[in-house]
Amino acid sequence: MYQFSDFPWPSSVVEEFPDHCQILEYMEEYARQFDLVRHIMFRSKVVSVWYERDADEDEETEGWDFWGGSREAFGWKGKWEVQVETSSDGHTSMETYVVDFVILCIGRFSGNPNFPEFPPGKGPETFHGKVIHSEDYATMGHERAKEFVRGKSVVVVGFRKSALYIAMECSNINASRSRSAPACSTVQASFYNRVEEGSIVLKKALKFEFRRDGISIDGKLTEVKADVVIMATGFKGDQKLSDIFESQSFRNCILRPPSAVVSLYRECIHPQIPQFAVIGFSKNLSNLYTFEMHCRWLVELLAGKFRLTPICEMEKDMEEWENYLESSGKGYRKFCQGALHIWNNDQMCKDMGWNQRRKTEFFLEWFEPYGPSDYASP
Ligand SMILES: Cc1cc2nc3c(=O)[nH]c(=O)nc-3n(C[C@H](O)[C@H](O)[C@H](O)COP(=O)(O)OP(=O)(O)OC[C@H]3O[C@@H](n4cnc5c(N)ncnc54)[C@H](O)[C@@H]3O)c2cc1C
Repeated sequence: MYQFSDFPWPSSVVEEFPDHCQILEYMEEYARQFDLVRHIMFRSKVVSVWYERDADEDEETEGWDFWGGSREAFGWKGKWEVQVETSSDGHTSMETYVVDFVILCIGRFSGNPNFPEFPPGKGPETFHGKVIHSEDYATMGHERAKEFVRGKSVVVVGFRKSALYIAMECSNINASRSRSAPACSTVQASFYNRVEEGSIVLKKALKFEFRRDGISIDGKLTEVKADVVIMATGFKGDQKLSDIFESQSFRNCILRPPSAVVSLYRECIHPQIPQFAVIGFSKNLSNLYTFEMHCRWLVELLAGKFRLTPICEMEKDMEEWENYLESSGKGYRKFCQGALHIWNNDQMCKDMGWNQRRKTEFFLEWFEPYGPSDYASP
């Protein structure tokens, strides 16, 4: 599933779960194959984006009937000013680029770490060991991270991908005890072997607090000694996306109330934000495959191959989708969307004028699961 539609994994990779080095190699090879690197500005950070319109035009986009005023990618003929901070040789410089269209692909699971708040005297300031976020651990690199946890008793807070990977790594490095608390995710079978051996100890906790020598779980009932606490408590990715707009009205509309999560039409564009798209903010089971489909849809839109429905219909569509997800049960939301990505792909195929039945034969359509290669360009 984790594969570009037009770039199969090399036959040398036989593992069901390739490791991070193999994934990096696959990505780098893809970039080389399609000559992408020369288009990338490294060491550069987009600090803000600002939509500039003709001064005579109305400030608000809320009264519009069509996206960008005309249902097309470049309809309104406004411009975006993109402020970019670049660092080189210890110096930083700021530059502004004026562009016709902005596509943000800044990642939902990086930057803006989510750090829980604690009452005074019960947070990390009380603890005599080290507290870091999972992102700090990841950016340390393998060797430094290894030294950081070697010989230490490590508590990993969280029970999703980052937490499970880090707990597993600490257990590999130390064969000492790592502890991990709430939720669910997909893990290698060997994770449970480590749990059985006792080198990973799982503790379920509704809440926890820091102590001088570790943490206490569920109001002092259980005290766990630790040298290092790694907070695998996720990211505020939606907030990061909203903060990049200089305009407060765009900030407000991209975080749709009441849930205040990013909500997009076809998971790519916002009806009230013209000449602008986001890739990488949907929730699904296999990001690469789903995001690639979003990119195809966007490319066709930019090329003027189809036009969008009026804003009121786009909003109705988004609302129906949101309500459907909500009605699927609390906490189930993202898994639900993950399983339904084929439905979303069908909608995109229809928009683009592609046949949404992607298989070449009747029996394959009925009995073979859909995968990335089914969505290669027709
Ligand atoms: C521990 C972990 C395990 C995961 N496992 C899987 C998995 O098994 N399968 C799966 O499909 N997905 C997995 N994911 C999700 C993973 O994040 C995505 O698959 C993929 O990395 C998303 O790609 P992206 O390009 O959208 O975002 P990212 O990979 O996060 O890339 C975003 C890029 O934008 C850059 N950036 C951010 N802000 C700015 C800015 N303001 N200016 C300039 N550049 C900026 C970042 O530096 C980064 O290079 C996992 C995530 C984590 C954290």
